[in-house]
Amino acid sequence: MPEPRLALIGFRSDENSSFRRGAAAAPPLIRAALSSPSSNAWSENGYEITPARFFDAGDFGPAEGVDLWARIESSVAALLGRGLLPIALGGDHAITHPILRAFAKAYPRLNLLHFDAHPDLYDDFEGNPRSHASPFARILEEGLVARLVQVGIRTINAHQRAQAARFGVEAIAMRDFRDGCVPDFDGPVYVSFDLDGLDPAHAPGVSHREPGGLTTRQAIDVIQRLRAPIVGADVVEFNPSMDSSGMTAMVCAKLVKELAGRMLEAAGEPVP
Ligand code: MN
Ligand code: MN
Repeated sequence: MPEPRLALIGFRSDENSSFRRGAAAAPPLIRAALSSPSSNAWSENGYEITPARFFDAGDFGPAEGVDLWARIESSVAALLGRGLLPIALGGDHAITHPILRAFAKAYPRLNLLHFDAHPDLYDDFEGNPRSHASPFARILEEGLVARLVQVGIRTINAHQRAQAARFGVEAIAMRDFRDGCVPDFDGPVYVSFDLDGLDPAHAPGVSHREPGGLTTRQAIDVIQRLRAPIVGADVVEFNPSMDSSGMTAMVCAKLVKELAGRMLEAAGEPVP
C-alpha cells in the first residue's frame, strides 16, 4: 500500500448540541463499522478503503484548559500541511466551523456542499455562538468559503430564510430535490454531511429525526456525480444512543468509503 493520501480524524464533541447529547460517542463506532467484516472495504468507484489508506490522527475531545475550537483548527491544519486529504468524524455539526477555518487557509476559493435536514444558519441559537444550529452562519460571516450549497433541507423557517438570503446560500430544498440533482462547482469542494439529511428510515441514529429526507442511495449518487474534486469532508451528527440496530454506523462507514473513493479519484490515485 502506498503512503496514505487520506487522513481520518475524530472529534468527540457534542457540548454544542441543542436538544440531545450523544454524538460525541460516534467516532470509534464509525471506525469499527469501517473495518467490520460484515462488508468489504471497496468503494463503488473501485478503491479499497482499508485503514492503511488513512493517516489516522486519532480522536480529540474536550479537555480541561484547552479551547477545543483552536485544537480542531490546528489539528486539521496540521493534516493539510502534510498534504493529506482529511475526513473528519463528528461529533455534532458545530465542529465544521473550526475545520473550515483550517481549510480556508489551504483553499482560498473553497466550495462547500452541505447535506442536512437543517440549514444550521441561526444567527443566535440559545445564546451559544458555537451551537450546532449555527456553524454555517459563522463560516459565512468569516468568509471561509466561496459558495455554500445545501442539499436535503426541509426545516427552513423565516429567520433562516433571511439568513440564507443575506449570505447568498444556494439550496436544493428537499421539496425540490429530484434524482439527478447535482450541484456544479468550478473548484475544490468540501462535503459536510449531517446524517439527519438522510431520511430517518435510512439513518435513525440521529438527535433530530426529520422525516422526508434523502435515501442513502440519493445522497451517494450526488457524491458520485460531482464533477469538481472533493478535497475534504466531515460526517457528523451520528448519535449512537439513537441507533438501536447499528444501521446508522454502517451508513456512516459507507459514506466515508464513497467520499474517500471520490477523494482518491480526484487526487489521481490509480484504481487497482
Ligand atoms: Mn447540521
Ligand atoms: Mn441536521
